[in-house]
Amino acid sequence: MTVPHAIISGASIAGLSAAWWLHRTGWAVTVVERAPSFRDGGQNVDVRGVARDVLDRMGLMDAVKAANTTETGAVLVDRNGKVTAELPSDGVDGATAELEVLRGDLARTILDSLPTGVEFCFGESIEHLDGVDADTVLGRLTATTTTGRVLDADLLVIAEGVRSRTRDRLFSKPGEVDARDLGVTMAFGTIPRTPSDDDRWRWYNAIGGRQVHLRPDPYGTTRAILAYAGRDDLAGLERGAVQARLRERYADAGWQSERVLDGFASSEDVYVDELTQIRMPSWHRGRVCVIGDAAWCVTPMGGGGASLAVTSGYVLAASLSKVGGPTDPLDRRDLNTALAAFDEWMRPLVDQIQNIPKGIVNFAYPQTRLGLTVRRVADRVLTSALLRPLTAKLTRIADSDRALPAIAER
Ligand SMILES: Cc1cc2nc3c(=O)[nH]c(=O)nc-3n(C[C@H](O)[C@H](O)[C@H](O)COP(=O)(O)OP(=O)(O)OC[C@H]3O[C@@H](n4cnc5c(N)ncnc54)[C@H](O)[C@@H]3O)c2cc1C
Repeated sequence: MTVPHAIISGASIAGLSAAWWLHRTGWAVTVVERAPSFRDGGQNVDVRGVARDVLDRMGLMDAVKAANTTETGAVLVDRNGKVTAELPSDGVDGATAELEVLRGDLARTILDSLPTGVEFCFGESIEHLDGVDADTVLGRLTATTTTGRVLDADLLVIAEGVRSRTRDRLFSKPGEVDARDLGVTMAFGTIPRTPSDDDRWRWYNAIGGRQVHLRPDPYGTTRAILAYAGRDDLAGLERGAVQARLRERYADAGWQSERVLDGFASSEDVYVDELTQIRMPSWHRGRVCVIGDAAWCVTPMGGGGASLAVTSGYVLAASLSKVGGPTDPLDRRDLNTALAAFDEWMRPLVDQIQNIPKGIVNFAYPQTRLGLTVRRVADRVLTSALLRPLTAKLTRIADSDRALPAIAER
């Protein structure tokens, strides 16, 4: 029996979900991760729509529920912390989802449930690739990593996140990767909890296009986000410079900005993201497939990145299970058929999230006092008893009427 081999580059939610499902469907799997060890950390993500079914099929629903952030709802507050509107959070897909979990906890849950046999190469990345477009049955691809390790494989899955270098190297023709700057910067970090924090997500808007978010976590600390309209290229700056820039931006923002800035100064896990949507007309080429944020980063503004990442591992494995066979090595035609089926199933889910209405940044991040007033009125209307059911639909993402593709038994 021929066991196909997949290399997965990136050991976060998409890469680990793909490792889990490819291993389950009979593949030998090697995961290459640039970081020296598994990357914990990160703030709130949620699991919605079809991703819930995928987690259920993995038997991880209870483990993810147990890791829940403990958040019970979401409110908008004014400069004094007074609640101005309450976002719908009832049901599994509210503003606070039933499966609201920290990124690191979700990734760790999948990692811990991987069966033995999945090989990990931490502290390495792919330096050189041969045979990506090899046409024959024997034409496997060869990857050489930064430590000189040589890996032969039938398939390379790129799950390296939004700034994936391997993707950019392999899909370098004009139009193959469209990276759209949304003009929003976010800084996430963990800060000490204070008695004024409650079990709700509190969301404050200040003029100058600035937001402050405080959310509970299950570890007795508070997860904070500073999000603002504008770009400072923070990702390229060293920690002190990031702090200084944030302090300048939030100088007069009010509410709990000072506390968050002070907290970030000593926080170990400040993560900065300049929101960039990734769009690719095709997510595959030859023996290579791109998944997760590397393929379609929807950004926290669209939401649903973790759900798509979880789902993509399953859909990839299910699509591949329908080609090749116990005695036939996968040729490029088979792969093309499977990867096209993967693309076809995932794309509507991605499109649904990526089509952010024009002008949403101006609405979500008001610059002026008038803009802020308009936003507050709109928040009240949208969360009123009359429109609440409609507003609740906005958080139903990664949802589909289609059943997940089945896994073909061999
Ligand atoms: C440490 C961390 C913290 C995060 N925090 C938040 C957060 O607070 N809020 C939020 O909304 N989203 C956060 N994200 C992003 C979130 O995880 C993703 O949006 C989503 O879950 C999709 O995940 P992904 O697996 O596609 O990509 P990612 O989670 O971005 O993971 C990509 C993985 O690939 C690895 N990698 C990158 N380049 C290479 C390379 N060349 N070779 C090998 N490996 C490589 C990275 O180290 C990482 O482990 C965070 C991601 C990381 C890695």
